Amino acid sequence: MLQLRPNCEFCDKDLPADAADARICTYECTFCAVCVETVLFNVCPNCGGGFAPRPIRPATERRAGVSLARHPASVQRVRLRWDLAELTEFVAAVRDIPPEQR
Ligand SMILES: [Zn+2]
Ligand SMILES: [Zn+2]
Repeated sequence: MLQLRPNCEFCDKDLPADAADARICTYECTFCAVCVETVLFNVCPNCGGGFAPRPIRPATERRAGVSLARHPASVQRVRLRWDLAELTEFVAAVRDIPPEQR
């Protein structure tokens, strides 16, 4: 099941489960749209992959047993493990390669 992480790993902005500006990579690394567009340039600094909008888990239980209340968002905040210089170098090396060719 997708982990709905509570914050942007780069700027620490809150990204609640219903945030329309949450972006994730295939490993569920989570960032806000502004950081993805202006700092990361669609390069996940942890895996090198691209990002997609994070789907919003329904708050209303429209099918038995599945809803945000049944499977709540994570409360464990995640912070980036790379320093800015390393991150900038990594992003520069990868950003011009389309995600499907990475
Ligand atoms: Zn951010
Ligand atoms: Zn990633």
